[in-house]
Amino acid sequence: MTDHETVVGLEVHVELKTRSKIFCSCPTTFGAPPNAHICEVCAGLPGALPRLNKKVLDYAIMTALALNCEVTRESRFDRKNYFYPDLPKGYQISQLYAPIGRNGFLTIDLPLEKIIRIHELHMEDDAGKLIHEGSSNRTKIDFSRCGVPLLEIVTEPDFRSSEEVVAFLTRLRTMLRFIGVSDCKMQEGSLRVDVNLSVRARGDEALGTRTEMKNLSSFRAVSKAIEYESSRQWEIVSNGGTIERETRRWDEEKEQSFSMRKKEDAAEYKYFTEPDIPEILVTEKKIDEIRSILPELPKEKCRRYIEKMHLPPYDAGILSASRETAELFEKTAEICGDPKEASNWIMGDLMKLLNDTGTLPEDMKIRQDSLGKIILMVKSGKISRAAGKEILRASFLEDAVPEEYADEHDLWLISDPKILEDAVARVLKENEKALTEYLSGKTKNFQFLLGQAMRLTRGKADPGALRTALETALSRKKDEA
Ligand code: ADP
Ligand code: MG
Ligand code: ZN
Repeated sequence: MTDHETVVGLEVHVELKTRSKIFCSCPTTFGAPPNAHICEVCAGLPGALPRLNKKVLDYAIMTALALNCEVTRESRFDRKNYFYPDLPKGYQISQLYAPIGRNGFLTIDLPLEKIIRIHELHMEDDAGKLIHEGSSNRTKIDFSRCGVPLLEIVTEPDFRSSEEVVAFLTRLRTMLRFIGVSDCKMQEGSLRVDVNLSVRARGDEALGTRTEMKNLSSFRAVSKAIEYESSRQWEIVSNGGTIERETRRWDEEKEQSFSMRKKEDAAEYKYFTEPDIPEILVTEKKIDEIRSILPELPKEKCRRYIEKMHLPPYDAGILSASRETAELFEKTAEICGDPKEASNWIMGDLMKLLNDTGTLPEDMKIRQDSLGKIILMVKSGKISRAAGKEILRASFLEDAVPEEYADEHDLWLISDPKILEDAVARVLKENEKALTEYLSGKTKNFQFLLGQAMRLTRGKADPGALRTALETALSRKKDEA
């Protein structure tokens, strides 16, 4: 145990998956050509009037409910004034005084449950993107991102380690994807995390002075940055120095943080209520409406898998950890009528495929009904377990349709009684000695005869059906004898 404690609070920005921007009807398309999607509102031309996109409000309320927040009934927007080239209006439209959500929480398990309090949740518009051209020393601006809707989620300083932070971010991302408000891709900037961090001697009550770190482009970077910044601060503090209240930039290559600017305080932003957007009134009815369409969240799914579908808690935890595995599991269990079997195939063969190909569940292309069909085909003896695996692989890699694939690759097992009876009859004729021994009590010859019959079908017989055919033929021989 070290002599100091790390204290972290997060400010998380997520881009909402709405089709149009927060205050105008420009599309939010990621990766469009620079400045392709701008209008007088998002480009900040004088006199242009913003109008709140209703979908943004719905998504914000949905998120607030999922994060156990109180939804503010009379919410407002405020102007946060500052000048920066990527912000053509000269101010950001955010929510300072009456954010849409407050006082929520999200739990993490490490494996003990810990509650991370959510201070608030608010809506705001994104700024443009500066593109620095290293070679020419010039900077270009893409305004297309201006006005893309953002939710900012601010936690209380409840984290004590990088593991807790990563566990929280993982759960938050899963949840936001479950409810479908954001795809939370850190590499594309639709999930951005700022780390506020301070240190204090173990046992101290008072919080230390914090820095804020930006430019974290992966969970790994978040984790590294926390370790680095914690050591840096403790080194200063334990040598009698003081921490500057500042914003720092994480340099991923150097794996160090560097000072960017002294922290502005709220007064410098000259906040005032946004005069062009009326107050947002959220009725009880609206909240109920949104609550009723809120999809089942990971924790509830996990519980249902255990209690109603009788999965082991271990399986339930893994399957409910991503929207994609949960949906595939539910569909598969529905089709094959056997949740445990569905879980076995997903946790075993499918997860192995994901692992081997380095595919994330959200990038998985397999048809929702494929695995359920494959399981049915195996269970009913139409194909072998090995063929089932092969078809799953093809469904996963090449989007194969199970029945078509089985046709094309001749994977169907023979279960036609006529063909199997013929095969059995031929085996009994050709193995007279073994048959006679069997009839006089050497029962272990059954396996031999079965093996011969299987060989005759070149391994293509449905084992259950073939066994039945052999049993029937042998008992007839017994009667005759
Ligand atoms: P500001 O308004 O100055 O940005 P906030 O009170 O909104 O400050 O806090 C911003 C973030 O910093 C929150 O996530 C909060 O949990 C975190 N935070 C506040 N104080 C500390 C501290 N002493 N150490 C670590 N994090 C802190
Ligand atoms: Mg703040
Ligand atoms: Zn626009």
